[in-house]
Amino acid sequence: MPAYIIELLYLLSGVLFIMGLRGMSHPETARRGMFYAEFGMLVAIVGTLMQHEIVRYDWIIGGLVIGSVAGLIMGLWVPMTAMPQRTALSHAFGALAAALVGVSEYYRHYQFGGHLDSFKLGALGFEVLLGSLTTTGSLVACGKLQGVLPGKPLLFKGQNIFNMTLLAVTVACFVCLFAKPGVVFYFYTMVALALVFGVLLVIPIGSADMPVVMSLLNSYAGLASAATGFALGNNVLIIAGTLDGFSGLILSILMCKAMNRSMGNVLFGAFGSVAEGTSSGAGGEMREIGIEDAATQLAYARQVVFVPGYGMATAQAQHVIRELSEALEERGVTVKYAIHPVAGRMPGHMNVLLAEANVPYSELYELEQINPDFPSTDVAVVVGANDVVNPDARDNPGSPISGMPILEVDRAKLAIVLKRGKGRGFSGLENPLFFKEKTAMLYGDAKETLTRLVQEVHKL
Ligand code: NAP
Repeated sequence: MPAYIIELLYLLSGVLFIMGLRGMSHPETARRGMFYAEFGMLVAIVGTLMQHEIVRYDWIIGGLVIGSVAGLIMGLWVPMTAMPQRTALSHAFGALAAALVGVSEYYRHYQFGGHLDSFKLGALGFEVLLGSLTTTGSLVACGKLQGVLPGKPLLFKGQNIFNMTLLAVTVACFVCLFAKPGVVFYFYTMVALALVFGVLLVIPIGSADMPVVMSLLNSYAGLASAATGFALGNNVLIIAGTLDGFSGLILSILMCKAMNRSMGNVLFGAFGSVAEGTSSGAGGEMREIGIEDAATQLAYARQVVFVPGYGMATAQAQHVIRELSEALEERGVTVKYAIHPVAGRMPGHMNVLLAEANVPYSELYELEQINPDFPSTDVAVVVGANDVVNPDARDNPGSPISGMPILEVDRAKLAIVLKRGKGRGFSGLENPLFFKEKTAMLYGDAKETLTRLVQEVHKL
């Protein structure tokens, strides 16, 4: 096959990846975006299989079959709620592949006295370094999210200094390798230290911060692939790796911004190990409301805004929330959903769950769109959300989450909060919203409470 056809296929797959990313930036076009990206990957694989350097196909076909079967099984059986750890596992395998390609290239060139030009050697070292630390880092992230490893930050004295020293020694090996590429000791020491560094980088981070860490590791895996592309002279790896690397980085930055935390605080702050902080206006009595009263308030409202959070995900209450919306809409109530960018535990968590329950996209409103609506909202129903509706973030400069944008539920005429008890959210902070006069607490598992609300609304 002429080389220019392969390059054209690579270009086409690069364009499809970009169209895929663009599509995934909005829930309505996300599914189409996935198809573009999948098709782009197929085109890239076909292009690669046409390379004239390939002398035999049996190993490639074997890998293709194993990978496809594993992907199919994971796609069919892994539940939506386990998606974060499943993604972490994919990152680990992607990064391992990049690292192994780098190791084999090094072995091929140097074990038998050959050599690479300095640009390729630099790209190869970078690929192996990032690939190795991403592999172990992603495996630890997966273990924490799955509950196989402790979710709490694992800390020891002088941890940050130890980690920085280890990183410095790893980078020093990389630099020495550059000066003396034939000394295999530098290369394999760098690989071993990078593998250890990956573990140490992730263990001090709490499991709730894992989504940010994972998107950062995703970015590293992407950059490792781009470096592989430079080392092998493969354009599609350079394009796809760079897109992956930078989209992961942008996503991490956006998540940190939405939580009003710095990247440094997420990576080195051991958030989640201590749940301390000042809270203004939290104290006194929480007012409870009964099911019948809550149903009446909802049924006779003009506008109701649902505010889903992590509790909706754990209760798997997305289907019944839609049933309640439909029951209210039949009575002429306007229903909206307020989506906070970091509600739940992964980016787009609420969008994914509500889409799964066929809630129309037109009813989903982002923070900036819905906040001006709260003062004219009769009832805001908080379904297992806590931090994302904590008014302290707006009103109390001493709060650890001060400055985090919130959904201003406290400005609604009435806020009904569905939660099981007095449990705190991810930040571990008390929420003054629950003590306000215009707030009523409706205790119980969100799914059960919503089911009973649907029944009561139908009776009215
Ligand atoms: P949250 O602050 O973690 O609060 C969840 C609340 O749900 C808890 O207070 C809990 O109270 C309640 N709950 C749990 N299970 C429930 C059930 N079965 N039924 C009813 N209620 C239930 O959640 P959030 O408001 O969605 O905020 C998300 C937090 O995660 C933010 O602090 C954000 O910064 C952080 N975070 C998000 C991401 C992301 O990408 N989305 C990434 C990293 C960190 P009870 O125990 O009393 O029921």
